[in-house]
Amino acid sequence: MSDTEIPLVFDNIITSGPEVHLQGAYCASCETYCFPMQEKCPGCLGELQVADLGNQGRIYSVTTIRTRAPLGLPSPYSVALVDLTDVPLRVFSLMNPAEAGSYQIGQHVELHVATLGFDNNKETCRRPYFGALKQLQR
Ligand SMILES: [Zn+2]
Repeated sequence: MSDTEIPLVFDNIITSGPEVHLQGAYCASCETYCFPMQEKCPGCLGELQVADLGNQGRIYSVTTIRTRAPLGLPSPYSVALVDLTDVPLRVFSLMNPAEAGSYQIGQHVELHVATLGFDNNKETCRRPYFGALKQLQR
C-alpha cells in the first residue's frame, strides 16, 4: 500500500493536488470561513461552499502535551492555534511531532500530511499537521 492509499483521518480536509492545502468552507452571506466543512454556516446557518484555505499560517498560541498521547500519536506532541495566511481564520492544529516543544508564538508554519497515528477505528491513517517551513523563506 503506497502512502497516498492510506486513508485520511477525516475525509475532505485537504485539497487534492501537487501542493497540499487545507480544505474548509466559505459562507458568502456573512463572508466567513470555517474548518472543517460543516452542513451549515456556524454564523448564519447559510449555505457553505468548499474553500481552499491555503497551506501556511502563523502560530497564535502553542502548547506541548507530555502525557501519554491518544490515537497512537508520538509523545510529547504540540498543538497550536494557527492564523492562516490566505484566509481570515484561526484553526486548531496538531503540530509536527518531530518538532514538539520547539515552536514559538508568531512562527511561520506550513501544512504537511503524513502517515501518523490511528483514526477513531484504530486504523493507521494519514493526517495533516502544521510544522516548520520545509525551506526557510524571508
Ligand atoms: Zn454565514
